[in-house]
Amino acid sequence: MTKIAVAGTGYVGLVAGACFAEVGHYVTCVDIDENKVNLMKSGVSPIYEDGLEVLMQKNYAAGRLEFTTDYKSAYKEADVIFIGVGTPEQPDGSANLSYIATVARQIAETIVKDCLVVVKSTVPVGTNDKVEQFINDFLVNDVRVEVASNPEFLAQGSAVHDTLYAERIIIGTESNWAEEQLKGIYEPFHLPIVSVNRRSAEMIKYAANDFLALKISYMNDIANLCELVGADIQDVAKGMSFDERIGSKFLNAGIGYGGSCFPKDTKALEYMAKQHGYELRTVKAAIDVNNDQKTVLFNKASKRLITFNGLKVAILGLTFKPGTDDLREAASLENVPLLLDQGADIYAYDPIGSMNFSRVFPEGTISRGSITYVEKIDGALEDANVCFIFTEWGDIKAVHPETFEKLMRTPLVYDGRNIFNVTDMRDAGVEYHSIGRSSATREDIKELRNLGLQSVRS
Ligand code: NAD
Repeated sequence: MTKIAVAGTGYVGLVAGACFAEVGHYVTCVDIDENKVNLMKSGVSPIYEDGLEVLMQKNYAAGRLEFTTDYKSAYKEADVIFIGVGTPEQPDGSANLSYIATVARQIAETIVKDCLVVVKSTVPVGTNDKVEQFINDFLVNDVRVEVASNPEFLAQGSAVHDTLYAERIIIGTESNWAEEQLKGIYEPFHLPIVSVNRRSAEMIKYAANDFLALKISYMNDIANLCELVGADIQDVAKGMSFDERIGSKFLNAGIGYGGSCFPKDTKALEYMAKQHGYELRTVKAAIDVNNDQKTVLFNKASKRLITFNGLKVAILGLTFKPGTDDLREAASLENVPLLLDQGADIYAYDPIGSMNFSRVFPEGTISRGSITYVEKIDGALEDANVCFIFTEWGDIKAVHPETFEKLMRTPLVYDGRNIFNVTDMRDAGVEYHSIGRSSATREDIKELRNLGLQSVRS
């Protein structure tokens, strides 16, 4: 079994570290954030991921997993060092490689034996060549260092499962030595390994992520057209999904993609192409569609209501997707400021994400409006004038259509995740607007009321 150090204990580094330990390797997870390290040492995960804490505690107790801020001793001991620090977007769209550079320098100045450095972070094509050069330029001791690429494909919300049962492992190496070491580390996982050169591995990550972003934007584009021509995007997606060339996943229309990967990876690839004098038109289109999609419901609601000023606005779901506490590039972050600027009194519910959201928008008066965090869905819906749904958490999906009608002052719902059936909502007396489907309009509800249907409030 290999002695591994992992730099960075975010979604990628911590999950990788815990899973490497789970299959028998000896792993030291390094982070510069002392609070995080103390939390992890006490058995608490600093991020929410299903099954992660159990894995951390189990392997920590077994002596296969450690956490430290002392990178020097961790890197000195390691045979292989994985880098999983962030590569966030810069204002011009390019990837910020400063965190990678810092770790590279720390490695160069620390290691005392031959070492394989593996970059798991998503980095522009050619970065691994530079990291290898950089480390060798700053090496203090006479040792052999090689850099390999091993991009990560986990999805937040199912990160542990995606790592233990990955569909494939991509390794990008420039020597047999590096290839064999990496294959050895992944051997106990019994997963398909695709071994390519470093630049191809780097490109696979961007090409795969941007393809998924494109798929989402394509469906959103078609959804917007569906509304104009009277088609239903869910029926359209179902019809498409039987075609194996298309596949059945990532066909859900909604208020756009968010998270820490798709938005930045699309922009980074577009930037990379530009630097090489090439315009990546398909990816640019995915970005443009996504930018507009995030506020499509706000714009619809703005047309329907004279103003949000003084209205109680329920928001169900704050995180960029269910199963995670991550808010990066979430639709809620785009829409909440727009609502607050218009004087809305927001009552926000999220089963996991409220704490993180309140760090950006503290409870109380903000701009012309206010925000209150509630612990129950009912607390958000009670007496609300309008409701926006931004995340398809299980308990939000489980709300009965009649609950909106019973609790809200005016049952007016804008659903960015197409959770509910349009007919069910209409039959419950809810004015319901979603993405790429027909709406249950005021007129529909009035007509039902005139017919005196039981389920509609008189
Ligand atoms: P993150 O921001 O959650 O975590 C990064 C961690 O690195 C932080 O805890 C930070 O304190 C730590 N760090 C910074 N500098 C350090 C240093 N010098 N030494 C040790 N630790 C240091 O990031 P993430 O979401 O895990 O993403 C990491 C990389 O993986 C990015 O390139 C991202 O694009 C890629 N990726 C992310 C996902 C995902 O779903 N989050 C999936 C695939 C790939």
